[in-house]
Amino acid sequence: MVSIVRKFLWGSTNSYKKRSWEFGGNFDALTPSDSNKPIGKSLWTGILKSKNTIQQNTIVQVQTGNNLYFWKDMWIGDLNLADLFPAFFKLSRNKNDSIRDMFSFTDAIPAWNFNFSRTLNDNEVILVTELLQLISNPVLTNSGEDSLTWRHGNTFSIKSCYNAIEEEGFIRFPHMNIWNPRIPQKVSFCTWCLCYNSAPTLDTLRNRIVINGCILCWKAAESNTHLFLHYEETMKLWHFFFNSFNLVWVFREDVKANIWEWSSKKGNSLKQRLWGLIPSAIWWTVWNERNNRIFMGKFKNSDQILQEVKILLYHWSIGTNTFAGFTLNTVLHNWNVLLGSH
Ligand SMILES: [Zn+2]
Repeated sequence: MVSIVRKFLWGSTNSYKKRSWEFGGNFDALTPSDSNKPIGKSLWTGILKSKNTIQQNTIVQVQTGNNLYFWKDMWIGDLNLADLFPAFFKLSRNKNDSIRDMFSFTDAIPAWNFNFSRTLNDNEVILVTELLQLISNPVLTNSGEDSLTWRHGNTFSIKSCYNAIEEEGFIRFPHMNIWNPRIPQKVSFCTWCLCYNSAPTLDTLRNRIVINGCILCWKAAESNTHLFLHYEETMKLWHFFFNSFNLVWVFREDVKANIWEWSSKKGNSLKQRLWGLIPSAIWWTVWNERNNRIFMGKFKNSDQILQEVKILLYHWSIGTNTFAGFTLNTVLHNWNVLLGSH
């Protein structure tokens, strides 16, 4: 199986030209290019989204020079020669030649053969010496394959990749606030989906037959931000907790931004421990209420919904000292006393 996947991803032969034929479009030597084939396209497109990240975090190891493009691959530093010397790239008749093809031995003397389409002028001759200094004479082997080596450690791992792209600011994700061990995984997963606007609210259905109106309030279209941030019952929940924490809150544009903002606020110990649980408790409760109303015809009023949130907070805190000394009854009916005591 691994071998089949590898062949699919990386081609079955050493020939980069073969690979380009397999994947269509512009061909790269060591990473596959986009495909226009309809079969498996979405999976393939998803995989290819990581291509730039992989390129930026790998180092090219030149061996035979057969699998690397002289102009287009980044085998010298962080730029390819086509970008470094665009005028020469334009003049070259061999834009898709491998390093090996461009480098020849005439009477055992190694030399680059640029094969420009016209004679160079004086300025260009000066510039070409810069190019030659930069690339010097590579040590090409007769065996072995040109390869990509992962910059971060000896072997590639998802963890090192995640760290690398996080450090470079490609992705920043409040994972600490979402994958809280106190929160059940199904709830964390729900929150994680919300961060990507992926809860299946009506706006995501894009179904012309269904008119998108929020089933809970009929005042707006149902979307992730409406349901989980701005829907009036949800707002009541937010305001209850903001008030009890003496906070004024300005909602950010989406769920993920709010989670970030949320994580920067800290209170004393009990508040601090509760703080990380509140968004997930609110969202899980609202999502369940929405589904109960739609699919079961069951409605809870505002007070009952708030109690649901508190019950979740209480249950998620069992085994910790968050509510030490307090009964569920106190949590439900004397919330302010509870917070005021710490
Ligand atoms: Zn609504």
